[in-house]
Amino acid sequence: MNRNEMVEEIIRLKEKKNAIILAHNYQIPEVQDIADFVGDSLKLSQIASETDKDLIVFCGVKFMAESAKILSPEKKVLLPVIDAGCPMSDMITGEDLKKYKEENPNVPIVTYVNSSAEVKAYSDICCTSSNALNVVKSLDAKEILFAPDKNLGSYIAGKITDKKIRLWHGFCITHERVETSEIDSARERRPGVKILVHPECNPKIVEKADFVGSTSQIIDYVKTSSDSEFYIGTEMGILHSMRKVAPNKELHLLSKSLVCYNMKKTSLEDVYNALKNDVNEINIDEDIRVKAYNALKRMLSINA
Ligand code: SF4
Repeated sequence: MNRNEMVEEIIRLKEKKNAIILAHNYQIPEVQDIADFVGDSLKLSQIASETDKDLIVFCGVKFMAESAKILSPEKKVLLPVIDAGCPMSDMITGEDLKKYKEENPNVPIVTYVNSSAEVKAYSDICCTSSNALNVVKSLDAKEILFAPDKNLGSYIAGKITDKKIRLWHGFCITHERVETSEIDSARERRPGVKILVHPECNPKIVEKADFVGSTSQIIDYVKTSSDSEFYIGTEMGILHSMRKVAPNKELHLLSKSLVCYNMKKTSLEDVYNALKNDVNEINIDEDIRVKAYNALKRMLSINA
């Protein structure tokens, strides 16, 4: 089967099975192009919670497909590559957080959606990089734990004056690879060109950037800015989404190391295989799911 035939088959199977294909902005271009919706984790979780389709094929990493299942338990959710994981989400387990909660019963826990269903189940509320600030602000507490991303947590801590933010020690191995020397040489190469970065980058990078935002916020910035050229400091897959909405802008990836190998595992063939054979279904223990649902639902009621 050639590529065009495979695309046609995917579309045919999608209709036959009343399915929706969701793809994260960090997926490869071919997978983004076949998806019904491409977006960041907040947008995709909202779509997953609202869709009336029977089947969700989630092209992303495991925690994202789990969030879709948590929000839409009556639907079948497939992750085309079952071992597409997230090293950051593996930096904390449900057991770790359960123990923390027992030892610190009065410290509310805000958990980044880049975490397992078990971790969400022990959390008071979840957040994404788009809504983290408003989520933290919404809590009536003097102290909170922000887990697992210490970089996003310290970015939020810098914007909050009325709460002490304790940080877990997790981080995104992809964003953490950007070096300050890469920002310095970008400024030297193209003086005046704005540098836009994700808050998962190390604080040393965030401090030197012109704009800090989630993938959707960075895309919006490029789309609406009167500037014509940018350095982009997040996973390279975003460039494909960005070129669709801002075709005349010149985009440079801030660092060649901004590649998430887990996000790149999913091929068109994997999407076809999942749809055709209903493989790699995500299932979550109902007790865990209900607890995780409460933390996610509470997050979805707060604006980005
Ligand atoms: S980009 Fe970072 S946070 Fe996102 S899936 Fe990859 S490792 Fe995890």
